[in-house]
Amino acid sequence: MLLVFCRHGGVAALLAAVAAETLLWLFGVVALQPALILVGALLFYLSEYGMHRFAFHSPPLSWPPARKLQHRLHYDHHVEPSRLDLLFLPLWFLVPNLALAAGLFALAFGI
Ligand SMILES: [Zn+2]
Repeated sequence: MLLVFCRHGGVAALLAAVAAETLLWLFGVVALQPALILVGALLFYLSEYGMHRFAFHSPPLSWPPARKLQHRLHYDHHVEPSRLDLLFLPLWFLVPNLALAAGLFALAFGI
């Protein structure tokens, strides 16, 4: 089950990013700051809750392509909660959102 979980594209990408960051830290390329890791973790949960509560559970949109997107991003997960491909966000949505969040984080904290 854990292997199936880790093979999902979004989870695999996040694990690869953590591994890359750890290697960069081990080789002295980057310095990890525990306070910023804690802030990042807290912001992740705040962002996760906000997206889930206000975006993914927003009322269905009237424009069919947007409504289809809402179904793919979250509504269908509640219809079939055991489907792993619906449990996690697709990479085409996750990667740009993580890049945007990382950019905002860097701007806010001057990194
Ligand atoms: Zn939900």
